[in-house]
Amino acid sequence: MRRFTVRAHLPERLAALESLSANLRWSWHPPAQDLFATVDPALWEHVGHDPVRLLGEVPPSRLDELAADPDFLERLDAAAADLDDYLARPRWYQHQQDRGHDMPAGIAYFSMEFGVSEVLPNYSGGLGILAGDHLKAASDLGLPLVGIGLLYRSGYFRQSLTADGWQSEHYPSYDPQGLPLRLLTESDGSPALVTVTVPGNRDLAARVWIAQVGRVPLLLLDSDIPGNDEELRGVTDRLYGGDQDHRIKQEILAGIGGVRAVRAFTRIHGLLPDPEVFHMNEGHAGFSGAERIRELVTTTGLDFDEALSAVRAGTVFTTHTPVPAGIDRFPIDLVRHYFSGPNGENESSLLPGLTVDRILALGRETDPHVFNMAHLGLRLGQRSNGVSRLHGRVSRGMFDGLWPGFDTAEVPIGSVTNGVHAPTWAAREWIALANRMAGPDRVEEARGWELLQTVPSQDLWDTRNTLRGQLVTEVRRRLRASWLERGATSAELGWVDGVFDPDVLTVGFARRVPTYKRLTLMLRDENRLRSLLLDENRPVQLVVAGKSHPADDGGKALIQQVVRFADRHDVRHRIVFLPDYDMSMARFLYWGCDVWLNNPLRPLEACGTSGMKSALNGGLNLSILDGWWDEMYDGGNGWAIPTADGVVDEQRRDDLEASALYELLERSVLPRFYDRDADGVPTRWIEMVRHTLENLGPKVLASRMVRDYAVQYYAPAAEAARAAVADEYAGAKALAGYRHRIEAAWPSVRVAQVDSDGLPESAEIGALLALTAHVQLGGLNPADVLVQVVIGRVGADDTLSDISTTPMRHTGTDGVGDVFEAEVPLPLAGAVGYTVRVLPQHDLLATPAELGLVVLP
Ligand SMILES: *Cc1c(COP(=O)(O)O)cnc(C)c1O
Repeated sequence: MRRFTVRAHLPERLAALESLSANLRWSWHPPAQDLFATVDPALWEHVGHDPVRLLGEVPPSRLDELAADPDFLERLDAAAADLDDYLARPRWYQHQQDRGHDMPAGIAYFSMEFGVSEVLPNYSGGLGILAGDHLKAASDLGLPLVGIGLLYRSGYFRQSLTADGWQSEHYPSYDPQGLPLRLLTESDGSPALVTVTVPGNRDLAARVWIAQVGRVPLLLLDSDIPGNDEELRGVTDRLYGGDQDHRIKQEILAGIGGVRAVRAFTRIHGLLPDPEVFHMNEGHAGFSGAERIRELVTTTGLDFDEALSAVRAGTVFTTHTPVPAGIDRFPIDLVRHYFSGPNGENESSLLPGLTVDRILALGRETDPHVFNMAHLGLRLGQRSNGVSRLHGRVSRGMFDGLWPGFDTAEVPIGSVTNGVHAPTWAAREWIALANRMAGPDRVEEARGWELLQTVPSQDLWDTRNTLRGQLVTEVRRRLRASWLERGATSAELGWVDGVFDPDVLTVGFARRVPTYKRLTLMLRDENRLRSLLLDENRPVQLVVAGKSHPADDGGKALIQQVVRFADRHDVRHRIVFLPDYDMSMARFLYWGCDVWLNNPLRPLEACGTSGMKSALNGGLNLSILDGWWDEMYDGGNGWAIPTADGVVDEQRRDDLEASALYELLERSVLPRFYDRDADGVPTRWIEMVRHTLENLGPKVLASRMVRDYAVQYYAPAAEAARAAVADEYAGAKALAGYRHRIEAAWPSVRVAQVDSDGLPESAEIGALLALTAHVQLGGLNPADVLVQVVIGRVGADDTLSDISTTPMRHTGTDGVGDVFEAEVPLPLAGAVGYTVRVLPQHDLLATPAELGLVVLP
């Protein structure tokens, strides 16, 4: 059956309800939510807080009533005016521009999933939620950003449980007409279509839906249209659902089709300038860079390398996983199949004007049979980053093969630690408190959180209790629904009303279920867990949730293990597994849990954001020092589970870390929570809550993250892109020409000789070391290269650490080669060593390591 949605006709006076429901800003604006609830409170609950559905189902008589209700109309007008003001008022970004900062005129942000709200279920987990939070914070800050992705007919799967606790998946079919989307149309009203060529000389066409996320338009491509054959209609059927062939089609559509959608959007609307910066949120949309090269090659006459230089300048790539299996890789023949000519020719039919060899080389890795989307991202983006400091470091190690000869620390991959959108994730109780303390609309600002430190302990504790109480109600509601689905009858479910206790310390653990997240670590010693749950005086209750990838039976077995444990009669009132983890459930967990547990296998959690959302609600993190927690744990804002780093035997490592977890709960977490003053307030606990809100609040905000991207990545990328493009692409041509010259000459560049003028056997720190190097430049000019002294601590194996570098001046030539000189202050005490190296040097390089070229003596 095919579903469709008929939208109701609103009375003229209520027309603003339509625009309020069409902009997802309502999802982080409580007054708008309250307004919708007033329309029909019971229906609002029934439709799962979905304004579009609400307006579709509310009886016309009720609408007529509201159209004559002065109170309602006043609130409606205020909400409409507030939205208009939100969309128009200059924000942080405009102030940056006013202060003369050179910010990009437009930014395109590509992601395979976007979790903006549960009413637009177009995400599977952390990556999508992060992308959604990025758009919302970009909107709050006024960035001229446009999001690009795919619209999946079934989104990600919905999870339920069988009677024996096995995950089962179902795929609802969403009707775009019933979602908060509008179609991108041409001036004659017909849908704007983008097409990409696929093998068999066919066109894969897609229409473009626009979700309006505050100020930010999100373009979602949808291939389910009559012009496509059955196979091609299915390209956007599901998120992460198919085989490699299905997936590469999705990524071709998202990347290449995505750029074409942006061009169509700017052509039709003329509102957003053409983006200067393209940000690839993970490598999935990496083909977008190849499409932009094609555009330049076919419209400006640049050759491939010149176009690549221009594209690289304006591209930012963010890598999101240190798990090798999480990196997107395709068989090279599959990529060749999609990109070559109809009979395997080198000339690409998908990207006419480009050759397959050049495209394949962009994703090459050491294994010649593999095309690696992360390598593609790194080669296409002049700037790249990981998503926490630790992950940045791990990524530099993971990808250092692309920069041979460089110290891992010099690999040009930086980091921007993820953040979360406070107005979406903080309970309205906190937002109200922050607004009271700091003034309205300041929760996305650090100040609102810092001021929470002045709230009296009793108020903090009352808020925590309220939120825990709401969670208990929600747990019972969901547990009952789950048992009914598993085949129980209402009559058997009386016990569910006694599940969880609003006064018991509540621990949450919810996340996807890949192995490294170790869902079942808490079950390592079942007896010990049982005694924690059942302790007479200081019990703990545990809520667990998470989806396993449909193809991952191992993950499903882990879920089953938890479910079977939680089903046991003696503990079922203290531990629950709730199926179908999504944004609507997650919210209650972050609000209500006292402790947020995270026990990944370090360092495989790139950042993790659920703990940040918990922290914004006064939840205390109990976590392995991985991802964000590795840099933000300060000893007073939660607990660090000690890791058995270096223990190779995984069983033993799990035993050790599980045991450390139980011990922390028994000795530290529980005693603190149950230690009460005369008024029943756990003073020492509340001190940690206060410290968490005030200290972590400002750091975990998505607004901090988006500002970091804007200042550290988008602005420099825009500047580089402008330099590449100006004067008929003079910069791009110069850089490409330079790269050719350098690569040709590099094999003959040599550091022939290094002399120091009488270094004393022992010298004092700060003393000057005078060095002269003779370098043979293989025909390059001295200005083409950077000759550097590298000085640092010498280790046992003759490697340098804690290095610092000093450039050397060109002072002439002699019989040996070009002469370079420097005087270097000795930077540290102890065993010190130095060397001299030669690096490329060009104004348009972001770092001297960029080309992966270095010559050492
Ligand atoms: C925040 C969030 C995630 C990501 O959490 P991690 O800590 O990165 O595992 C996943 N799913 C939902 C619904 C979320 O809200």
